[in-house]
Amino acid sequence: MAIRTRQEYLASLKRQKPRVFLAGEEVEDICTHGRFLPGLNSVSITYEAAHDPLFADLSNLFSPLTGEPITRWTHIQKDEKDALVKTRLMRRLGEKLCACHYRCLTSDCLNAAWVTSFEIDRRYNTDYHQMVQNIVRRAQEEDLVIGGAIVDPKGDRRYRPAEQPDPDMYLHVVEKRADGIVVKGAKAHSTAAPYTNMLCVFPCRPMMADEKEFAVAFFTPVDAPGITFICKEPPSPGERRELENPVSSRFGQLETFIVFDHVFVPWENVFLCGEVEFSGLMLSVFNSFHTWHKCACRAASMDTAIGALSLITDYNGTAQAPHIRGYLTDMILSAELVYAAALAAAVDGHTHESGVYIPRRIYGNAGKVFAAMKLGEERYFLQEAGGGVVTTLGSEKDYFHPVTGPYLEKYLCTRDDVAVVDRVKAIKLVEDLVASPFAGWYHGMCISGGATSQTLRERVLADYNLQGVRERALRAIDRK
Ligand SMILES: Cc1cc2nc3c(=O)[nH]c(=O)nc-3n(C[C@H](O)[C@H](O)[C@H](O)COP(=O)(O)OP(=O)(O)OC[C@H]3O[C@@H](n4cnc5c(N)ncnc54)[C@H](O)[C@@H]3O)c2cc1C
Repeated sequence: MAIRTRQEYLASLKRQKPRVFLAGEEVEDICTHGRFLPGLNSVSITYEAAHDPLFADLSNLFSPLTGEPITRWTHIQKDEKDALVKTRLMRRLGEKLCACHYRCLTSDCLNAAWVTSFEIDRRYNTDYHQMVQNIVRRAQEEDLVIGGAIVDPKGDRRYRPAEQPDPDMYLHVVEKRADGIVVKGAKAHSTAAPYTNMLCVFPCRPMMADEKEFAVAFFTPVDAPGITFICKEPPSPGERRELENPVSSRFGQLETFIVFDHVFVPWENVFLCGEVEFSGLMLSVFNSFHTWHKCACRAASMDTAIGALSLITDYNGTAQAPHIRGYLTDMILSAELVYAAALAAAVDGHTHESGVYIPRRIYGNAGKVFAAMKLGEERYFLQEAGGGVVTTLGSEKDYFHPVTGPYLEKYLCTRDDVAVVDRVKAIKLVEDLVASPFAGWYHGMCISGGATSQTLRERVLADYNLQGVRERALRAIDRK
């Protein structure tokens, strides 16, 4: 089985027995629990796309490792062409209306682990890289979803991991055994984690010489003893609605706090253990992949917002107003610039000696920060153009009610060729995108998810050739 179907993905989850809590209750079966459905639907679009003739050409390829058909999510990226196809796939997947399918994390983790383990082996003669190759082969053969468990609770931000009064604020090794290691700590915000097949756990910051026990990276099954998932209720209604939440009643992700209480990890799943100087490399390669992916999927979500603005203003009779044309133009400028950042990262990358083609970091990081800032503006445009009704209109229960329904049908009419039900749906679409719990979650994800914007700004500053342009300025004033 190289390319799974949605059913095979769900069947794989049924075979796992993670310890999951949601809203104060232990969840026996996440596959039958309604609150998990939008998350399962979201991940599933990558499986559905693989079997959909409209997406299969972009999604699927033959693995150089196994020689079998695989999806791009488990592929070790070889070159610029691979990166370009993936960029196009990410934007095209926007047609499915899902703002975050989370499969990019599988790619980010596998490619970053491939590079990191290669470099550590080269320096220390370890055999991590063979282990990572085995994991990648398995991920390809079984078409796995891999979750990223990276960001620790971190405690008091003024202190480094080794200085924290409670050492568990950063996940660390508490015991080394002949057959593996035992780790303790937590990862504070892992999206989708309980419905992945495997977690990739690694440090959220470069570690220093006295922080060896915190420099640890490994893969683990989600149901390893000692792992507990404490989930936040998802920003989705959890049931398909007729008019309301057209996006978030189908799609959305669930966030998780993961506790690692003395979790045993066999050596064959470990690819960094004490080699402090390589903890930053893992993060850096992951970051190059992840922000590139985020630019492409952000452009895809911007397309949805642009379509929504075009539709609601048509139904309202304002589509031709100059300021509305201006909003649309500005939104299109942003979408294309963010997508251009993804394309630039894809074509201007480099091939690492391990064979991984790494997207150019500065473009992905700059694009992701720009996209996060532009989300507020996008919402301003949608809310302003849609009008107050986007935030004030009652629910579909009122629209379908025998007493209130006819009033709404009368007063929400704009013109004869626009069915009122269509206008209500368009209003509810815009509400879902700007004024719903889902919209709040999505805003948080765009700003903080995949590294906080400030961290990315610092990396952009570090990657930019500031010295070079300063020298140019010195030449301009004849000082050089
Ligand atoms: C929706 C969503 C999904 C996410 N999904 C995942 C996931 O799948 N896997 C995962 O591992 N993580 C995930 N994250 C976590 C995300 O990567 C982090 O939230 C992000 O890296 C910021 O870390 P933090 O939350 O600890 O914030 P903080 O590090 O506390 O940062 C908050 C602010 O404090 C500043 N700050 C922090 N420390 C210092 C300091 N020492 N000095 C000066 N300023 C400081 C920062 O620059 C920033 O401005 C997700 C987050 C969100 C919101």
